[in-house]
Amino acid sequence: MRFPEKPRKWDEVKREIYRLREKDIPFSRILGTMCAKPEENLKKIYMDFLETNLGDPIKFPGTKEIEDKLTGMVLDIFNAPKSAGCRVVSGGTEGNMLAVAIARNMKGGKELLIPEHAHFSFQKIARIAGVRVRVIETSRNHVINPSDVQKSITDKTFGVVAVAGTTELGLIDPIPDISDICFDNNLFLHVDAAFGGFIIPFLKDLGHDLPNFDFRLKGVSTITADGHKMGGCAIPLGFLMARDEKWFRYIEVETPYVSTRYQSTLLGTRSGGPVAHGYARFNLLGREGFRETARRCMELTMYTKRKLEEKGFRIFMEPVLNVLAVVVENVDEVIEKLHERGWGVNPIRKLSSFRIVIQPHMSEEIIDKFVEDLGYVCMEVKT
Ligand code: PLP
Repeated sequence: MRFPEKPRKWDEVKREIYRLREKDIPFSRILGTMCAKPEENLKKIYMDFLETNLGDPIKFPGTKEIEDKLTGMVLDIFNAPKSAGCRVVSGGTEGNMLAVAIARNMKGGKELLIPEHAHFSFQKIARIAGVRVRVIETSRNHVINPSDVQKSITDKTFGVVAVAGTTELGLIDPIPDISDICFDNNLFLHVDAAFGGFIIPFLKDLGHDLPNFDFRLKGVSTITADGHKMGGCAIPLGFLMARDEKWFRYIEVETPYVSTRYQSTLLGTRSGGPVAHGYARFNLLGREGFRETARRCMELTMYTKRKLEEKGFRIFMEPVLNVLAVVVENVDEVIEKLHERGWGVNPIRKLSSFRIVIQPHMSEEIIDKFVEDLGYVCMEVKT
């Protein structure tokens, strides 16, 4: 498409844009995403902060204050010590990338150990930043076996990645044991809680037997957690926390022509919209609201599992968090046919499954419709 020579008419542009938007799957029928659906009543807050720039915070001291309050609240959820620091990032990818850069610059080693199930953002980091990653096989249990971490450590290893809420199955690595190993071997431990960060603490409050994964474990160095996933916030909002605020110096650069002297995030210019929106949301819910959301998500997860099993479908394994892997033959064909019927789910090809993530905005009604359509689709694919 060519850049228009003359201004186009607003009506015409608007019509075009909204016509294209109609091609998108309605969010209520996207069952595979880890991203949240922001509530209607808070959208205005995002819009009202659209032009604020947290890359140049002296010009926006009020918005910066909101950011500081928000990061303080987030550190509190993860039981961070007083020395800790937190940066707002664009999501799990940036958080993971910065954590690995801190680890490498701080420890000076060559090799990072990541589990096979780690999110592909670590492969991006390897390619972009030239970090060597060594993959620990996890295909047997789909979580790390701590003794495999111990065995994989060499004099080149500078750090280890563990996941709290894996991308495909929503599982949690045995982080307490991995933390001990890292602490004893003076290795950096980054916990990728991009997905699980804003649901695990609240499920634990409700009595779910889930492992600790936060700063209470002495070996945990950094944690990534995404507001725009189970935090229920608008995209893009992620957090990278470090046990010691001073560790951000390992990645900071001087910023001679903006109002702060240093920056330690990947992004320079970034809107205060998601930050103000996230701050509003966290305050309006409080821990009580997050616990209630977590409870509802798990109840609906078990409802969905039951409905699928009643229809004869197999769930790959008992869910730990609000993620279900549904086993089907010809995954890609099933997903394509579901797409034709207006549903969005995500493939897990190596497990011959697709993923459903149960989000707070979903209902039994939508699950019932989906299960019915899935039944038709699977019959079509077989015949
Ligand atoms: N880490 C985990 C465990 C994830 O599941 C994801 C995304 O699904 C990411 C990191 C990357 O997050 P983002 O796409 O927000 O950068």
